[in-house]
Amino acid sequence: MGFLKKLFGGSARDGRLPKAEADTQGVYFYVQCDRCGTPVRLRADKQYDLINEGTGYVWHKTIVDSRCFQRMPTVVYLNNAYEMVSQEITGGHYITQDEYEALLVAQRPVADQKTDEAAAGA
Ligand SMILES: [Zn+2]
Repeated sequence: MGFLKKLFGGSARDGRLPKAEADTQGVYFYVQCDRCGTPVRLRADKQYDLINEGTGYVWHKTIVDSRCFQRMPTVVYLNNAYEMVSQEITGGHYITQDEYEALLVAQRPVADQKTDEAAAGA
C-alpha cells in the first residue's frame, strides 16, 4: 500500500471533497442520520472503495455524522454503471441529492442567508 500512496500523491484522497460533477472517480451517496437529522454526503472512490463483484460493485462503510456522531454501518450494492441497486443501513436512511441540498439550506443560520442576498444584490 505504501508504494501506491506514493504513486498517487499521498494524502490527496484525504483532502477536501471535489465537486461531484467534475469527479469521475467518485460515487456520491447521501444519508440522513435518524437520530439528529443531519444530512451527510459520502464519497466512494471507484478504484479504492468499491469491491468489484463481477456483475457490479459493493461498498461497505460505517458512516459517522458530524453532529451526534452516530455510527451508521451500511452496505450498498451497485450495478456496473455505478448506480445504486439496493442498500442496507442502520441508524440512518438514504436520501436523494436534492433532499440533501434542501436539508443543508434548511439548516443554514438565517444570518448567512441574509449575507448572501446582500452580496448578490451589490
Ligand atoms: Zn446524528
